[in-house]
Amino acid sequence: MLKNDFLVVGTGLFGATVACLLSRNGKQCLVIDKRSHIGGNVYTESMNGIDVHKYGAHIFHTSNKQVWDFVNSFVEFNRYTNSPVANYKGKLYNLPFNMNTFYQMWGVTTPEQAATKIEEQRKEAGITHPRNLEEQAISLIGKDIYYTLIKEYTEKQWGRKATELPAFIIRRLPVRYTFDNNYFNDKYQGIPVDGYTKLVEKLLAGIEVKLNTDYFEDKDYFDSVADRIIYTGEIDRYFDYCFGHLEYRTVRFETEVLEGVSNFQGNAVVNYTDAETPYTRIIEHKHFGFGNQSDTVISKEFSKEWKPGDEPYYPVNDERNSLLYAKYKALADAQERVVFGGRLAEYKYYDMHQVVENALYLVDSLLK
Ligand code: FAD
Ligand code: UDP
Repeated sequence: MLKNDFLVVGTGLFGATVACLLSRNGKQCLVIDKRSHIGGNVYTESMNGIDVHKYGAHIFHTSNKQVWDFVNSFVEFNRYTNSPVANYKGKLYNLPFNMNTFYQMWGVTTPEQAATKIEEQRKEAGITHPRNLEEQAISLIGKDIYYTLIKEYTEKQWGRKATELPAFIIRRLPVRYTFDNNYFNDKYQGIPVDGYTKLVEKLLAGIEVKLNTDYFEDKDYFDSVADRIIYTGEIDRYFDYCFGHLEYRTVRFETEVLEGVSNFQGNAVVNYTDAETPYTRIIEHKHFGFGNQSDTVISKEFSKEWKPGDEPYYPVNDERNSLLYAKYKALADAQERVVFGGRLAEYKYYDMHQVVENALYLVDSLLK
């Protein structure tokens, strides 16, 4: 029965990269996915000639040249630079936090004035060792920006008080004293010209893929078809939730085609940072590809707590879940034939470049 060297559970970016590299090295792989399409959360599909990021906006960014060269060896990337705009009760601010934001917030025009303002607010707050997202944010950029651009958005996004969330979440965003709206500090950034689905198609070219196939529907059978298993699904599901459920945030997307509207909001990403607006952001997909179609497609993102049956999008790396994950991880480490990888199996808030990087390392170690 053991026809394959590896069974890869999941065609997301992690599973697809691992399968690609293993098969390049002569390993026979079978890849399965319970969804009806490949790509996991990076899946894109065309609507009215516009590439729509079906599971949320995805911008590839990395400083790792090996990762950048790797993905560019399959498809061409454009020069898109993410620069979201925040809308707080009708007033617009540039993100991430930079001289444009400081000017819009306080009217300051020089880096020195901005630094003085932030330093005043930091001192006033008196936080020396930030213990949570709120303290981290105030100690990075002061209370005015925290209360206008962070607190309400964060609490809407995570469904938890900012004081109950880990500080690392807000450290994802740069703070800079230049007029630079680039959301990322990485050396390389862009979006595949023909969409992410094309990238994953190329990664999986020549490899056997079975869609609409849930590993747990016939686990014994799937365990028998390969020597080793790369599992990229939820780690708690693998162990039958024996210690209880890990929590996730899920997102509901309301996607609309606006026929005859060529430009709805003038930017790919507009965040609504107030508590009253029920969605966190509106994505206008055509701007990721500098599209000049006569129609547009927009998606509103509504964040909510995950319950069984929903798509798990964001691991909630708070204290409760981190402790629970550590218990599952100990079980995972004791599995001889199974490797756990990717955002769900490692329960980590990974970006795409990180899962590709991890996949490169993993395959190196598997081939040793
Ligand atoms: P996934 O894409 O989740 O793939 C896992 C796959 O496993 C899925 O296809 C699933 O169907 C399959 N699977 C699970 N269980 C089973 C089973 N039992 N049987 C068979 N198949 C199974 N990253 C960035 O770098 N830039 C961004 O701008 C960005 N934006 C994001 C926006 C949102 C809203 C979200 C949620 C994430 C974003 N990310 C972004 C992160 C990015 O989506 C992830 O890093 C990446 O997609 C993780 O890939 P993965 O293969 O680990 O997981
Ligand atoms: N964030 C915020 N206001 C914003 C954008 C982001 O407070 O306008 C916070 C929020 O807590 C969010 C985190 O910064 O979860 C990380 O933002 P990012 O844009 O990286 O989130 P993602 O794209 O992963 O949803």
